[in-house]
Formats: sequence, C-alpha cells, structure tokens
Amino acid sequence: MAGVLSGKVALVTGASSGIGEAIAITLGQAGAKVVLSARRAERLAAVAAHIEADGGSVCVIPGDVTDEAVAARTVAETVSRCGRLDILVNSAGIIQAGSARHADMDEWRHVMDVNFFGIVHSCKAALEPMLAQGCGDIVNISSTSGRRTAKLFGAYSPSKFAVNSYSEALRQEVGASGIRVCVVEPGATESECAENISDPEWREKMREHVSKPGALKAQDIADAVKMVLELPPRANVSEILVRPTIDAAAQF
Ligand code: NDP
Repeated sequence: MAGVLSGKVALVTGASSGIGEAIAITLGQAGAKVVLSARRAERLAAVAAHIEADGGSVCVIPGDVTDEAVAARTVAETVSRCGRLDILVNSAGIIQAGSARHADMDEWRHVMDVNFFGIVHSCKAALEPMLAQGCGDIVNISSTSGRRTAKLFGAYSPSKFAVNSYSEALRQEVGASGIRVCVVEPGATESECAENISDPEWREKMREHVSKPGALKAQDIADAVKMVLELPPRANVSEILVRPTIDAAAQF
C-alpha cells in the first residue's frame, strides 16, 4: 500500500553523508522522489545508487548552499525535472569548535554561511513553488547546540540558535499558506561531522563524542523526520529534540 510520502518530491541538502544521507535513503524507501544535493558529486552518486537499488526514484543536483544563486538553481532544477517540490530537508552543515580568543574569523563566518545562510538560501528559493502549490514541508536540521551552548562552541552554537529562531519566524509567516516548518535538534549522532574541525584536539574530542557507546545513529534522525512528515497536513511538529538516552546530563 502506498504511504503518504509516495510520489512526493523531496530535496535533501547535505545528502552526501551522515544524517542527510540517511534521510534521503529513508524518504526514497517511503516512495518519495528524492533530489540529492551537496558539494561532493561522487558521494551523491553512491547515495543515488543505493536509493535506486532499493527501487526508489532519485536525481542528483550537486551544489554549495553558501551561494544563494546555486541554492536557487538547485530548487529551480528540482521543479523543472520533477514537476514540483513538496519537501525540503536542510541537513547541510558543519561543526567547528575552538576558543573565542583565538577565533579564525574566516572559519567562524563560514560556519554561519553554511549552517545559517545555507538554510536561508534554500528556504527562500523553495517558498515560491510551495506557496504556488499551497502546501509543502520544510525540515531544518539544527542541534541541541541550538538550545544550549557550551564552552568553545562560540561559532557553531550561535549558528544553530539562528536556525531555530529563523525556522520559527518562517513557520509563523507561511503556516497559514499550508507550509509546515520543523526544526530538528539532534544530540550526538554518529557521522563524519568531526572531520572538518580544524583544531586537531577538538577534532579528536568530537570524533569520540559522536562515536561513543549510546550515540544516536543517523537513521534515528531519519526516522524522526519521516514520522513528522507522515502526520496529517494539519499537524505541524515545529520542533523535535532527539537525544541519546544515556546523555541525560551532557552539556551538548
Ligand atoms: P556530515 O559531515 O556527515 O554531513 C554534513 C553534510 O553537509 C555533508 O553532506 C556535506 O556534503 C554537507 N555540506 C557541508 N558544507 C556544505 C556546503 N557548503 N554546501 C552544501 N553541502 C554542504 O555531518 P552530519 O550528518 O552529522 O551533519 C548533518 C547536520 O546535522 C548538520 O547540520 C549538523 O550540524 C547537524 N548535527 C549533527 C550532529 C552530530 O552529532 N552528528 C548533532 C547535531 C546536529 P559535502 O561535503 O559533499 O558538501
């Protein structure tokens, strides 16, 4: 029997690895036509092959979300190739950690460019087709760091607070037009997210944090996103916090 996501067109940013990859595969298994985006075309091709092997429908549009024109082109190409855009999942994101005293300003701006403005660019572009359709779903992957900060998270945490605040403002703006907005806040989740951290000591600490026993799997976040999307259109889960059970007292 076809599920509610069957035939829907879902664009997933950050689909080349980790949480975005798991969400893309899960939506493909649920019958959605999935559009994969991120910068690494070869990784996207591997995810596309996985979705096709599962019997799903997929296309790949590589791109960098920090470039507003590229994000707009990705959405426009999605609509021209698939006919519409029902679901936008913004999972593209990077983590940095380090002291405010020695902040590398290019690095800190880049965190904001990817994590915050990347989402703003993709949402702005997606609104046109979704408003014309009178429906749509936007899911923005934030973090527990978007709710509470921690020492040395001076770049990452504000970018996620910004995502939460922006998502709520957007929800209030477009809900009456039939568009749902949900912000998802994962805790420690196994992925490659530590690999981009420039400080070797913090890279290692983050590797340990996301691979510790009891850490979430990317699939857990994908299942939460699917659950939210499968609710009837009248129900907008606007915020969902998913934490490792064992992390009861963790700072981030
Ligand atoms: P990964 O590093 O596995 O995935 C990050 C994804 O973002 C990759 O697909 C990467 O693809 C993409 N990306 C990075 N920069 C850009 C860019 N400029 N343009 C387009 N795509 C980009 O990490 P996660 O899966 O863990 O991270 C996914 C999201 O989850 C992020 O927003 C992260 O902040 C959030 N999160 C993760 C947690 C964790 O513990 N893992 C906890 C809380 C939140 P490519 O390099 O090919 O462009």
